[in-house]
Amino acid sequence: MTRPCAFYICFNFQVILVGSLIPWAALNVIFIKLWIYMVRVDPSAQGGVVVRSGQSCSTHYCSICRKTVTGFDHHCQWLSTCISLRNYLQFYLLCVVGAVLYFLQTVIGLLAIAYWETDSNGSSFNASPEGRSLWILSSLFDCIIGVCFSSLVGFHTYLICKGMGTYDYVIKAYENRNTTVL
Ligand SMILES: [Zn+2]
Repeated sequence: MTRPCAFYICFNFQVILVGSLIPWAALNVIFIKLWIYMVRVDPSAQGGVVVRSGQSCSTHYCSICRKTVTGFDHHCQWLSTCISLRNYLQFYLLCVVGAVLYFLQTVIGLLAIAYWETDSNGSSFNASPEGRSLWILSSLFDCIIGVCFSSLVGFHTYLICKGMGTYDYVIKAYENRNTTVL
């Protein structure tokens, strides 16, 4: 690769990297705020946004939280709280923002690796084998988390379209399995 061409690519990677830091920072703020909301809000409290039909009708007792929750969807181990009518919309948004954030981080990591490849004078901040390995591992980790969040988004979008909660889905899947076995 000729030097002017390499410089042109490096320059553009730098522009894209710096440009992507603004939405990355904004997504981080939204993600952290949603996470704090999920941890702090009482899932058994009144209120919330009805996202799917019949959501406000189902009431269940969560043995982990020891609370009777209106619009019970499931108990989330990661957030250590129930997902209910009160916080379902925020949970769904958290998954959407998480998917976008971690895929963006993956792209930023790949851009950093590509920048390292084209940095012919070896003066960039990650121009070392250890630095490059860290970027690759970080990008791989971000990609896996992004896939996990997008799977959650896909699953809950499917449930919303079907007008079904996670709890109802699990019970139905269990009943179908028992019927098939019998
Ligand atoms: Zn719970």
